[in-house]
Amino acid sequence: MNLKDNIRVIPDFPQPGIRFKDITTLLKNGPAYQAMINEFVDIYKDKEIDLIIGPEARGFVIAAPLAYALGVGFIPVRKPKKLPHETIEVTYDLEYGKDSLVMHKDAILPGQKVLIADDLLATGGTIAATLELAKQLEAEIVGAAFLIELTYLNGRKKLGDMDITTLVQY
Ligand code: AMP
Repeated sequence: MNLKDNIRVIPDFPQPGIRFKDITTLLKNGPAYQAMINEFVDIYKDKEIDLIIGPEARGFVIAAPLAYALGVGFIPVRKPKKLPHETIEVTYDLEYGKDSLVMHKDAILPGQKVLIADDLLATGGTIAATLELAKQLEAEIVGAAFLIELTYLNGRKKLGDMDITTLVQY
């Protein structure tokens, strides 16, 4: 299955100069969606992961089915004012704009082995913030998994020596 063929590129969205990688075309193709998750399963099945963390909203569509397939827990990372219990919060820069991410304080126990998953690695700001949340809760970080990497934005640099897997590169 060629995953890249199932991703639609929209020029100048949401603003001029951005080439938006639209994954809805992949998600609506059942065999392509399944092939993507299965590729991640093959990579992570023996890593003794306890939890997969995914930032909203597109991180959910990767992290949740992967957690289900591996039989491990899923932790949502959300925008402010969405989570009902006690939270921790980190602010970060986007490829376009600025934002904050929030996680429940009791989402991860110290030493739990955690994988971070998201749709796309651009500048790395979102994942650096997610990583910071997980570190505040003393998680052991197994790595980060992305469907797409925009290699020209050098997001990997922001993530230090973390083990990073990406399935499709631009
Ligand atoms: P970043 O924090 O810069 O790594 O960007 C992370 C998030 O922004 C990704 O998870 C995407 O959801 C979104 N994003 C950034 N750039 C693009 C793009 N060119 N196409 C689609 N989504 C993008």
